[in-house]
This record gives sequence, C-alpha cells and structure tokens, in this order.
Amino acid sequence: MTMKSEIISVGTELLLGNIVNTNCAFLSGELAKLGIDVYFHVTVGDNRRRLMEAVGEAMERSGLIITTGGLGPTSDDITKETIAEVTGRKLIPDEAELAKLKAIFARTNREMTPNNIKQAYVPEGSLVVGNDNGTAPGIILELNDTIIIMLPGPPIEMKPMFNEKIVPYLKEKSSTSLVSVTLKFFGIGESALEHQLSDMIESQSDPTIAPYAGDGEVSVRITSRAKSGEKVPGSIVRVTDEIEKRLGEYIYSYHNRSLQQVTAMLLMETGKTLAVAESCTGGKLSALITSVPGVSKSYMGGIVSYSNEVKQSLLGVSRETLTKTGAVSSETALQMADGVRRVCGADIGLSVTGIAGPEGGSDQKPVGLVHMALSAEDGTLTWERKFSGNRDKVQTFAAKNALNHLRLYLLNTVTSIDKSRY
Ligand code: ATP
Ligand code: MG
Repeated sequence: MTMKSEIISVGTELLLGNIVNTNCAFLSGELAKLGIDVYFHVTVGDNRRRLMEAVGEAMERSGLIITTGGLGPTSDDITKETIAEVTGRKLIPDEAELAKLKAIFARTNREMTPNNIKQAYVPEGSLVVGNDNGTAPGIILELNDTIIIMLPGPPIEMKPMFNEKIVPYLKEKSSTSLVSVTLKFFGIGESALEHQLSDMIESQSDPTIAPYAGDGEVSVRITSRAKSGEKVPGSIVRVTDEIEKRLGEYIYSYHNRSLQQVTAMLLMETGKTLAVAESCTGGKLSALITSVPGVSKSYMGGIVSYSNEVKQSLLGVSRETLTKTGAVSSETALQMADGVRRVCGADIGLSVTGIAGPEGGSDQKPVGLVHMALSAEDGTLTWERKFSGNRDKVQTFAAKNALNHLRLYLLNTVTSIDKSRY
C-alpha cells in the first residue's frame, strides 16, 4: 500500500508537556513495519476548532489518518464528535457497544451516567473496534479518499487495540484495491434500465451497482474489492453476466468505452471505410467519429449538405425527390447516403437529415423528426426517429443514433466477433 499517513495526537496535556507522546512514537514504528509512510505528526489540544482545522488539513493530504485520545466519557473528550462534524456524519448509538457498556456498569454495580452513554456513539457508517481494556471503542471511518482511525489515548488500551485489530485491518486494506467495470448502454432509458435491474440494485452490497445517465446514454458501474494482482473479481463477473442476460442487446461497451470509440474500433477491425453526409447535425456526427485517434484509416470524409442546393450539386440528391418528399424524408436520406458513398469512394455512406428546431416543424414533420440512412455494397437501410429536447439535444441524439446504427450494421457483417472485447 502506498498510502500517505498522518498521526494526530489529541490532548492538551501533551502540549503542556505533562505527558510524553509515546503513542505517536509507537504508531510511527508500527506503521513503518507495515510499509506505510508517515508524513506528518500533529499534536493538538482538546479544542474543537483547532482539532477541526487539524483534521481538515490532514484529510487534504493524507490517505490514512490515525488519531489517539479524546474518545472517553468526559466533556473534554471531543475527538469523534469533531471528526463527525468535519466529515458531515451523524453520531449514532452502536447497539453492541451500548449493551457492552451497560453490562460493565451492571457488573461493577455502578450507575451509568449520560456522559458514559456517549462512548457508545459513533459516526454513521463507521466500523466499531472493540476495546478489550477499557470502555471507549476505537472507530474506523472509511471516506472516499481517506481512512480515519480513532484510537483511545491510554497506551494500555491503544497498543493492544492497534496490534490485534488495526494491524489486520491495514494488512487487508493494503492487499486489496477497488476494481470496477463499467457497462455502457444505448437504446434504453435510465428509468427502464433501473426498472429492469431494480432487484439487483436494491439488494446490492458487494459489488455495488451504480447506474449513470447522460447525453442519451446510460452506463452502469459495478465495483468491488479485489486482491492485489487479481484482475476482475468473480463477484463482478457474476453481476455483469446477469445484467448481460437481462439487457445484453443494449450493451455496446464492456469497458467504459464511448459509442464513437467502439464504432471506430469496429470500422478498423472490419477494414471498412466510411463517409458521412449530414444536414441537421451540421458536422456533429463527423466530429464524434474524428474524436477517436487513428480513425483516419477508416473515415474518408464528410459533407455537411445543409442546403437543398448542396444536397443536389455535391451529393446528387434529385430535385424531384426534394420537391416531392422534402429534405427531411427517407428518400432524401437514402440519396444522401448513396451520394456521399459514391463521391468519397467509401464502403459505407451514412446520412442524417432532420428538423433540429426550435423553428421549422410542422404537423407532419415536427421538430425532432430525423431521417437517417446507411448505404453499403450489400444493401441500404433507412430509419427515422422523433427526438425530444432542444436543438442541441436533437443534434446530439441524432448523431449518436446514426453511430449506433452503423455499429449494429458492422456487428452484423462479421460473424465471429467477441463483443466483450469492446
Ligand atoms: P479516556 O477514556 O481514558 O478518557 P481518551 O481516549 O479520552 O481516554 P485522553 O482522555 O485524551 O484519551 O487521554 C487519557 C490518558 O491517556 C492521558 O491522561 C494519558 O495518560 C494517556 N495518553 C493520551 N494520549 C497519549 C499519548 N499521545 N501518548 C501517551 N499517552 C497518552
Ligand atoms: Mg479522556
């Protein structure tokens, strides 16, 4: 584990020189044995504001923070209260610790005062570390970028707790790391996807399953811990297989790749060349494709044929078609795809023509209507979609939809393709 760590010793007695900070020396030595670098020793008094400051700074620079002291029942013991505040966690009672505390007081025939109960409170989401030599438990708080471990001050409690419970925890941490797999989907909305996976999402613990949505695409990240050296843990593979079983037809990438990346990979793999004719997307489709490095072997070029004149003169769309069916029609889309394929000398021609809005729509041809076509040696395809949203959305959705059709066409042209490589 290459983790930067820091020790915060809490106690005014330390600052006054009344006691020597043996905890800090002990912990530094033990952490060194574990191969964990200690970069800072901070000592701070029993003062809420200064402790907050110390913890805040430590969180900015250290992956592991170990505090000692200030976990006891008295009002000057403020470590976990302050850390809960800094990290935005509520303090909640830990039932097991509460029961343990009650048992101790019953056994020794002492009355349990409210400040004693405070010892059984821990920040929400903590791992509670039992104290075999005292009443205040240790606490492990795992945050996104930082682990905070709070240990009691008395060395007689702190040392055995560290040796017996924290060392195994840190060893386990250092031999595991987070591994995640991201599946990308096209053609299914976020809510439909969540619905299909709702039972898995609700009962998730390890691996965790997190759906994300944006720009007309949805992705699902599956995350788990793996032993160092292990690639993708079996638990992730099982979840991925189940999602594939349910929604496989929508998955276009198993490795968090973009739609344009996957489509470009397929173009390069099949050795096919592409030319693009765009109207309403104004070049967005070409921009998406050319954002992929190395695609120059496959992408021949594109024509933004925005006006009817250019559709006719450069792409050879017939005047008759344009007057009879209009620029936004499957006939025009098809002639655009045919035309650009011929003009550019490509294997595949792909075209988009539609109404991006906000103006220009009619009852028969509303804003968002887009016709697309694909022309290739072995035949042609035309399809239409009605996208909703503003101009930018319609353009983006149309460009991605065209890309996805191209991807599906390419997948069909090859029989033996290992989809999971994409
Ligand atoms: P308690 O439950 O005993 O109050 P605590 O976790 O609240 O424990 P403190 O109150 O901060 O810890 O300290 C209790 C005692 O532990 C101190 O009086 C001192 O004897 C010892 N101690 C605390 N911090 C250190 C340290 N850094 N090095 C050595 N001894 C320490
Ligand atoms: Mg104390």
